[in-house]
Amino acid sequence: MTISKERVVQVIYEIAKEIKENRQFLTDLDAMIGDGDHGINMARGFEAVEGKLDSVKSQDIGSILKTVGMTLVSSVGGASGPLYGTAFMKAGQVVIGKDEIDANDIVNMIAAAVEGIKQRGKGEVGDKTMLDVIVPSLESFKNAVNNGKGLEEALGSANEAAKIGVEKTKELVAKKGRASYLGERSLGFQDPGATSAALMFQVFQNMK
Ligand code: ADP
Ligand code: MG
Repeated sequence: MTISKERVVQVIYEIAKEIKENRQFLTDLDAMIGDGDHGINMARGFEAVEGKLDSVKSQDIGSILKTVGMTLVSSVGGASGPLYGTAFMKAGQVVIGKDEIDANDIVNMIAAAVEGIKQRGKGEVGDKTMLDVIVPSLESFKNAVNNGKGLEEALGSANEAAKIGVEKTKELVAKKGRASYLGERSLGFQDPGATSAALMFQVFQNMK
């Protein structure tokens, strides 16, 4: 069971739509523990991505994702731009030249994205960031695939793990990013970047 590059392009448009619909929500979350711009940053980034997609849609999946990543890095001022940008670029690198991807490719893509985010942001699971969603979602997806589950079911497990991960960020003290300036006062609030990551896994759930 594979995902075509046409579907990958559609999924990126769907992420852009989801992010734009949640612009205010993400910004409100960031206003509680950061500087109130996460929704604005992400919407600006994905609007720029929407503007670029048509010109690269006939390229291979790796090249398309590289453009998505570079566009996010160059159009978003906040920490999330370079971090998500790196994530998409790294995910693209492992599928360069491919016009379709399967479940194992997706495992490798998310794993590469996680490594990129960790390298760039020097963060770990438990720091109250996007990693607290992406890492458990990857684990859940990988377990499902290794247990012989189909892509649809595996993506469903990843989305469930993402929802749990985002809730759990409420119990974490921020160790990275602006929210870390608050220390213990960041407790009780859900992380904005973990929330935008969970929105992406919600879109991925319907990828197949
Ligand atoms: P900024 O903090 O520059 O205003 P945003 O508000 O767009 O940028 O993004 C904040 C989000 O970025 C946080 O909620 C967190 O999930 C994520 N983030 C910040 N720093 C890091 C880091 N070092 N590693 C991983 N994620 C991070
Ligand atoms: Mg912010």
